Amino acid sequence: MSNTPEHVHCLIIGSGPAGYTAAIYAARANMKPVLYTGKEPGGQLTITNEVENYPGYPEGVLGPQMMEDFKNQALRFETDIRYELISKVDFSSFPRKVWSETGHEIHADAVIIATGASAKWLGLESEQKLMNKGVSACAVCDGFFFRGQEVAVVGAGDTAAEEATYLAKLCTKVHLLVRRDQMRASKIMQERVMNTPNIQIHWNTVTEEILGEEGVTGVRVKNVQTGAVTEIPVTGFFVAIGHKPNTEIFEGIIDMDDNKYIKTVPGRTYTNVEGVFACGDAQDNYYRQAVTAAGTGCMAALDAERYLAAKGKI
Ligand code: NDP
Repeated sequence: MSNTPEHVHCLIIGSGPAGYTAAIYAARANMKPVLYTGKEPGGQLTITNEVENYPGYPEGVLGPQMMEDFKNQALRFETDIRYELISKVDFSSFPRKVWSETGHEIHADAVIIATGASAKWLGLESEQKLMNKGVSACAVCDGFFFRGQEVAVVGAGDTAAEEATYLAKLCTKVHLLVRRDQMRASKIMQERVMNTPNIQIHWNTVTEEILGEEGVTGVRVKNVQTGAVTEIPVTGFFVAIGHKPNTEIFEGIIDMDDNKYIKTVPGRTYTNVEGVFACGDAQDNYYRQAVTAAGTGCMAALDAERYLAAKGKI
């Protein structure tokens, strides 16, 4: 790319369900969108196995294949897709300025942020090795594959509580591994966990290793108070220690909540910066589903279209 700034009507940052859906709508509205994929083209779904809860795929679909389908649909309407990262933005003037990792400068009339979020991981080697082979960060996505089996969930916040109660409906037993002697989750969620007979809470317990070669066979845990090391036989291991929205480059520029999720106007995708819209997991700490991300991606494109039309840009 040259160093001359490039002018675009609609710049989309991110390539998960939100970004690609925004691209499909923007392209069909003749906004000639340019989409930067970021470091992980296709987003979180590319590290998922089977997706069975996305409407329109009655037989289910592999996460990476689904994102390939999203991409091809965006390409069909001539979205300009670039496999690069946006590393810097300046939203202090019009048009909005954005730079790619290679230093290419883009001036955009409207910007759609769809940078998503990433699950936090424990950082164990065995966790990497068994990813999608029993290790998951999404009970709603993968819980079904473990029905009738025994699983473990690590974490002690609302996500862990929610995942554990969700899994308890499908699995024979859920071991909740809590590293301290208390949970961070809200009282009501904790009560729900405590009142579910097939959830066993292991207090003061840290995960030492996830066991298994081709699939999870168990987890080795240590009680940090007694020092006792035990093995729990499970076939599924769910990491629920939080998510991190990919919003670093917008810090101090766009309004965010305490967890760095972008704030949008309820029912809309407007951020506090005019002409900058946010969709998908970058602004949703609550639903975090592919289908809800796609829905807000559509909303962002429609909001951007109305904005650009009102400004006489398209
Ligand atoms: P949180 O940051 O609230 O909690 C993370 C939990 O994971 C903490 O209990 C923490 O333990 C534990 N943890 C972190 N690192 C490790 C580790 N290496 N090993 C073991 N445990 C670890 O994240 P959540 O995703 O749970 O929630 C994020 C936000 O989303 C919160 O504001 C929450 O209220 C909200 N949320 C709301 C929901 C709802 O209302 N239905 C559902 C889901 C989320 P420790 O406590 O010891 O630090």
